[in-house]
Amino acid sequence: MCKSKKLKKVIKLSPTPPANAFLNKSQLKKKEDFFPLEVNFCQKCGQLQLTHVVSPEILFRNYLYVSSTSPVFVAHFEEYAEDIIKRLKLNKNSFIIDIGSNDGILLNPLKKNGMKVLGVDPAVEIAMKATKKGIPTLPFFLNRKVATDIAKKYGMAEVVCANNAFAHINDLDEIVESVKILTPKDGVFVIEFPYLVDFLEKNLFDTIYHEHVSYLSIRALTALFKRHSMEIFDAKKVTSHGGSLRIFVKKDGSKHIVKNIIREYIEIEIKLGLNKIQTYKKFAKKIEDNKKRLTNLLKQIKAQGKVIVGYGAPAKGNTLLNYFKIGPEILDYIVDDSEYKQGLYTPGTHIIVAPFSKIAETKPDYILILAWNFAQPLMDKLADFKKGGGSFIIPVPDAHIV
Ligand SMILES: [Zn+2]
Repeated sequence: MCKSKKLKKVIKLSPTPPANAFLNKSQLKKKEDFFPLEVNFCQKCGQLQLTHVVSPEILFRNYLYVSSTSPVFVAHFEEYAEDIIKRLKLNKNSFIIDIGSNDGILLNPLKKNGMKVLGVDPAVEIAMKATKKGIPTLPFFLNRKVATDIAKKYGMAEVVCANNAFAHINDLDEIVESVKILTPKDGVFVIEFPYLVDFLEKNLFDTIYHEHVSYLSIRALTALFKRHSMEIFDAKKVTSHGGSLRIFVKKDGSKHIVKNIIREYIEIEIKLGLNKIQTYKKFAKKIEDNKKRLTNLLKQIKAQGKVIVGYGAPAKGNTLLNYFKIGPEILDYIVDDSEYKQGLYTPGTHIIVAPFSKIAETKPDYILILAWNFAQPLMDKLADFKKGGGSFIIPVPDAHIV
């Protein structure tokens, strides 16, 4: 973020395969690639980032995660579209580009409002499918060259968005410069990312995985944008991924006015100690405590001869399973609504992913909710499971049974 080399390692998880590298049966016998999963703290700007960067070609070209499989997310991005239409006074002539657009989850509602949209996403297959469904999506990693080509061919965009994508990118200077090429003087860069404050307060350590290079705060981002003659002028808290921030960034000299709320966010971040290394050392200790709590709980349940299964095979689940060493000897299977993952095995831990209907067929005693951000809708959906004597285990912030 700030180019300082004053980095200190604060969190060390175990080496793990890429969190979305699910395996088919024949791949189980082959050796998997494990990469270090450790986090550095920048003592100058307070940025939190991975120590090792896995090539984006490995992580994103054959991406499995399709955003619109989650109805909660679809609703979230409908709200997002409404928010930017109102806040930035967009109209039918507006052109919006989304970086890491996936299957068009944000661009879809914007297009329905009559706007011109363009997605950019390196996941070749997802990009192709999105294009077929009417959301034009270029299968590229964004850089200055790609941005220049887009600006020539499609024109400049009033708004460029990057949702749950910005923190995935190693070379942020390149991205910020690319966005500057794509936007006019009053153009706005909107970024949504899991917020470091929620990450720390809710102990969301399992959101550490190779795709997430950065763990972002307003204070650290300020240093980045300042170097590129840009500034965050507005921000909104949203609930996705356990607590995220949607920020609005402008070019220096544009018509947008910086709101006081930005100063307030930075003051809160400093008050919470986000700029201090001790905060992260304490956090690392909390991860260890929770590891003991959850693994002991699971062992006790297994000792009673009970059956435990997992709900959700999200990327973050694989950080938790690998670091806590939870494999098929503890979880019989994991259910996930994504058809892409069903029939495959979790990376590193080799637990099979099954369709949701398997819960009704096998009637397990406990469900460990790995997709904890969807815990409430799941528990509502499985009211009968609960009535029949089943229980849920929620792994974060402190592992507990519901
Ligand atoms: Zn820094």
